[in-house]
Amino acid sequence: MSTPNNGGTPRYNPLESMQRRFDEAKEKLGLDDQFANVLRVPDKVVAANIPVTMDDGTIRVFEAYRVVHSVHLGPSKGGIRYSMDVHLDEVKALAAWMTWKCAVVNVPYGGAKGGIKCDPRSMSKGELERLTRGYTLAMRNVFGPDKDIPAPDMGTSAQEMAWIVDEFSKISGHNSYAVVTGKPLVLGGSLGRVEATGRGVMVSTRSAMAKLGLNPTNTTCVVQGFGNVGSISAKLIAQLGVKIVAISDVTGGYYNPEGIDVAEAIAYVANSASRSLEGYKGGSQVTNGELLELPCDILVPAAMEDQITPENASRIKAKMIVEGANGPTTAEADSILNEKGILVVPDILANAGGVTVSYFEWVQNRLGYYWTEERVNRRADRAMKQAFDNVYATSEKYGVNMRIAAYIVALDKVASTLKLRGSF
Ligand code: NAD
Repeated sequence: MSTPNNGGTPRYNPLESMQRRFDEAKEKLGLDDQFANVLRVPDKVVAANIPVTMDDGTIRVFEAYRVVHSVHLGPSKGGIRYSMDVHLDEVKALAAWMTWKCAVVNVPYGGAKGGIKCDPRSMSKGELERLTRGYTLAMRNVFGPDKDIPAPDMGTSAQEMAWIVDEFSKISGHNSYAVVTGKPLVLGGSLGRVEATGRGVMVSTRSAMAKLGLNPTNTTCVVQGFGNVGSISAKLIAQLGVKIVAISDVTGGYYNPEGIDVAEAIAYVANSASRSLEGYKGGSQVTNGELLELPCDILVPAAMEDQITPENASRIKAKMIVEGANGPTTAEADSILNEKGILVVPDILANAGGVTVSYFEWVQNRLGYYWTEERVNRRADRAMKQAFDNVYATSEKYGVNMRIAAYIVALDKVASTLKLRGSF
């Protein structure tokens, strides 16, 4: 279902998108309603208003959430998003997706997500630090290495994780690296974590290309979003021999049918004052909407939710879509993509490399022993390849697309655990 937002364009509800796929998988699996009802909604929703002294001396109040969807497989795990678009249903959907994602890649965690309604780009470092510490204090009874383990998401980075470690360690009276992942290396971070999500997108893309019989050197790819996930996915997919013909970020899209030099574009963003592609000359300008409809073999949406909708799905030309972002395709668009025969590698599989290496980071923190990057990458690649093959085989077994297959794999696992644990 979509509802009009203030601009008059439809706004989709990610929670409804999640629940529609959940219901379809539940039917295919023949899961009893009484168990499904437990997993269709979050375990716990914590809301807080965080007062922050701004640099000009005024006090502002920020709306903040942490949603724990499930703790059936282990402590809940999920990122924290800083964005003006944060709303509770979105956080609930993102928390549920974390549950399904962890189950799909066999990581022993439940799912959670956090969000603060703020515009991090317009805030100073000091303001962001005070906001992050205030949020940690508000969520001190939610977070914990064996309870709920945050990580970065849109608008947050290793720096916010470092502040959370520091604040949480002060509150608990001892050093607590394992309370968050995605930390800086010197503070207990893992080698390979920064690249992990993009790397998993690359492994998924490689597996899907093999299924479609695509030879990388004759294959083109468009990537939407050029942050952590988009830029690294583009770089690693290009290293397979695929030609990246368009990239984009919030400033718009850049199209070059001869191929974008991804390393040069990454360096451009790193050196630009706005840390964006604004003014990039390596391709002709297109809008983000046009970008999705460009001729290409592979489309990687790696920016945000609700980009592929019933309004544009029929015009998408790619043979396959590998979802780097969470929720980039609305539930209504799924059937259009299905009818067109487009292979969609769903978010809860394609971008699960991040949480896989987050899990490795937590394991290393608890061991107090740190792995080489080669070991991290090898284990993460193996986990992603196994998860892809398992979801693909499930899609063949049940005669469903890969998205519903991924939900079936996840739901089966979490529901079996729920039944075994019992106690309602
Ligand atoms: P990021 O903040 O590093 O980058 C986001 C990118 O999207 C930026 O280039 C930004 O300019 C661009 N963008 C924002 N609004 C846009 C718009 N309207 N149109 C086009 N581009 C736009 O965030 P990220 O960590 O790369 O996350 C991107 C997506 O991947 C999110 O959906 C996130 O939940 C998901 N994800 C991230 C990770 C991770 O490890 N970082 C893991 C799994 C999933």
